[in-house]
Amino acid sequence: MFDYQQPDAKGHFGMYGGSFVSETLTHAINELKAAYAKYQHDPAFMAEFKYELAHFVGRPSPIYHADRMSREMGGAQIFLKREDLNHTGAHKVNNTIGQAMLAKRMGKPRIIAETGAGQHGVATATICARYGLECVVYMGSEDIKRQSPNVYRMKLLGATVVPVESGSRTLKDALNEAMRDWVANVDNTFYIIGTVAGPHPYPMMVRDFQSVIGNECLVQMPEMLAQQGCTNSQPDAVLACVGGGSNAMGIFHPYIRHENTRLIGIEAAGEGMDSGKHSASLQRGSPGVLHGNRTYVLQDDNGQVTETHSISAGLDYPGVGPEHAFLKDIGRAEYVGITDTEALAAFHYLCQTEGIIPALESSHAIAYAMKLAKTMRTDQSILVNLSGRGDKDIGTVADLSNADFYCRPSCKGQSVKGGAEQPIQMVNLGARA
Ligand SMILES: *Cc1c(COP(=O)(O)O)cnc(C)c1O
Repeated sequence: MFDYQQPDAKGHFGMYGGSFVSETLTHAINELKAAYAKYQHDPAFMAEFKYELAHFVGRPSPIYHADRMSREMGGAQIFLKREDLNHTGAHKVNNTIGQAMLAKRMGKPRIIAETGAGQHGVATATICARYGLECVVYMGSEDIKRQSPNVYRMKLLGATVVPVESGSRTLKDALNEAMRDWVANVDNTFYIIGTVAGPHPYPMMVRDFQSVIGNECLVQMPEMLAQQGCTNSQPDAVLACVGGGSNAMGIFHPYIRHENTRLIGIEAAGEGMDSGKHSASLQRGSPGVLHGNRTYVLQDDNGQVTETHSISAGLDYPGVGPEHAFLKDIGRAEYVGITDTEALAAFHYLCQTEGIIPALESSHAIAYAMKLAKTMRTDQSILVNLSGRGDKDIGTVADLSNADFYCRPSCKGQSVKGGAEQPIQMVNLGARA
């Protein structure tokens, strides 16, 4: 068995991670490190966490055998880990509960968070309402315009949403602003980071909270695989989309020791890996320091962070969690890209083939599963982390899908140009008609 003990005591995953923060934050970070070190082994803390996940979130989330999709691809059996069925509709709440529980124990009544698409903001506002904590969410004004339903949701939940007008007015600027708030208010404020990024201990702590996903899979998969006549008792490949990397680390981490399971992270290739319009930090970035840790960053020759693009706001981040950088370098995980067009095709395909509307982020992982399955045997298997539901994305999809919308023969008569009578083979991932 592959021995994997990461990070080291200082939060290094090989040459990545660490803690690059100003003097003012050193105290707050040390306080957090001490609190997490204490409570992560505290039976009462862990019991409460488990209780919240069971009764507030609805865990364990099921695993679903995507039967029609598997048959149509003609190769590996495809299974979906249904994080979309969690309360709030995605995996993010697993982490916000853990961090809010720490905030309560540390006596911090005020919570701050950054958000891009608004998903982490909603998950944070939700748990703050549940625990009676003050909640302030920083969000780029550009994102506020693009994601108005989530802004309204946060307000309904009692949070204050602060528009950020600096830089490109998106996620990375919101993160900077949240850090600034934290520096000014360390005494009464806890900063809930939404992904496996930020200074140590965040990448490790968020991974640990999200590892509930992979730990459930280890228990659930053997029976699911046996039912479908698969040869191995754990999946041959585990797939997840990678923005900051938290849903991927959550499902990957418990599988790292299972060397026969390939771990594949899917980044947003946007308009193409060589278009300059993507968010593929691991594949097109280079090592640098961003938001308190060393990792792969999309940057120009002067070290300026470059603009990113993806159809899915949740993957649109110029950095990535440092543990992914490490897993890539040691070769334990592979990282590939899926374009906007491919993700959109997979979105429609899953809607009409399995009756599941996936998040556009998760659609990237679905799209790659469809490609990969075709190269595998029917007694092999792929487990996809379906990180969230797509209700939040239907406006985006409606705006983009009026042309070559994938449509099954059964939706004949629907007023969708191009799709109605096309055979299934028109899901030509990689090429837009
Ligand atoms: C935020 C989000 C992501 C991307 O974040 P990770 O930290 O990479 O998991 C992926 N899927 C959904 C549904 C999200 O809301």
